Amino acid sequence: MRDFRTYMGAAVLALALTGAAPGISLAAGPGSSLITVGPGQTLMTGTASPSEMPEEWGVVRTADKYSYTDMEQDIRELQAQYGSRMTVNVIGTSLDGRNLYEIVVGNPGAGTHVMIQGAIHGREYMTPLLVMKQLETALAQYDTGRYGGISYSSLFDRAAVHFLPMVNPDGVSISQFGLAGINSPQLRETVEEAYRKDLEEGRTEASLDRYLDYWKANGRGVDLNSNFDAGWEELNDLGHPSFAGYKGTSVCSEPESMALVNLANKYQWSLVLNYHSMGEVIYWDYEGNKVQDQSRELAELAAGITGYSLLPSSGGGGYKDWLQTKELPVPSITLEVGSVSCPMPRSEWARVWPQNEQVWAAVLAWAVRR
Ligand SMILES: [Zn+2]
Repeated sequence: MRDFRTYMGAAVLALALTGAAPGISLAAGPGSSLITVGPGQTLMTGTASPSEMPEEWGVVRTADKYSYTDMEQDIRELQAQYGSRMTVNVIGTSLDGRNLYEIVVGNPGAGTHVMIQGAIHGREYMTPLLVMKQLETALAQYDTGRYGGISYSSLFDRAAVHFLPMVNPDGVSISQFGLAGINSPQLRETVEEAYRKDLEEGRTEASLDRYLDYWKANGRGVDLNSNFDAGWEELNDLGHPSFAGYKGTSVCSEPESMALVNLANKYQWSLVLNYHSMGEVIYWDYEGNKVQDQSRELAELAAGITGYSLLPSSGGGGYKDWLQTKELPVPSITLEVGSVSCPMPRSEWARVWPQNEQVWAAVLAWAVRR
């Protein structure tokens, strides 16, 4: 709780300094940032350290906007380089026709499965870059790397890691390229309608372009991390598509959330790690969490590596919330990377990568030891 209050204190101070603009609200929700900033406003929390950008190596490189196309290209190049060490699956298709990729490294037959997913929220597109770089690190260091005294190759004999770098590719494309990021005329209309409604209701005062920069939802304005069967009925119903916060017409109404549920039901998972941004915090709990001890243990492990603060989290409708409370519950945590508001500048990579470079190996070792 001390960490929570410290963090809130810093947030309130930041608000005071920037002048609390309408559209800024403080809410600790699952998978959503502690601080929600409406389109057109920016809120800086903390001060980005002046650390230098890590040296770039390999296939996956930083970009101002690491896009769906960049990711697909990188997956192809990694496959050309490490084909025997990775399996590329498509677990579903987004509303706008993009593939939902799952890249598996290790031994799925061993029965221990770890999932790492990113970008369920569109504007949080630092996370696909992060998950892709973790994937490349796992592949590049497969024969030489070690964690906690165990070689990566031994870990991968005993478990499989499923990397899902971009589970909401339409949302990422909208946040990066605006209306030009959508192929379907019908979806484009839905997005424009969402803007009109949000303008009308005072949820934004921004220009359309600026509004779309802040897009968290999927291609038709549903916040995927409010679309899961965990307290969904009780969630506030916005009643219309929006850049953020609309829970949809029913549980798992969206192909992207359904694909995640289907994948969750396909294996017995040791853990699921959900990457979001921002805040440098870890949400690890939810009301009715059936795997509380394991989730807390995982969160403490990740906090020890990243230096992030632990928050219990509440809210509902999130993938983590559902995983922790479903019939066969799965230990799960949400890591919120980055210290500045989304979309984050490329320079934030200098903080995000060193903090998270080893997280995948740590949770894999944790899963194998259990
Ligand atoms: Zn998020």
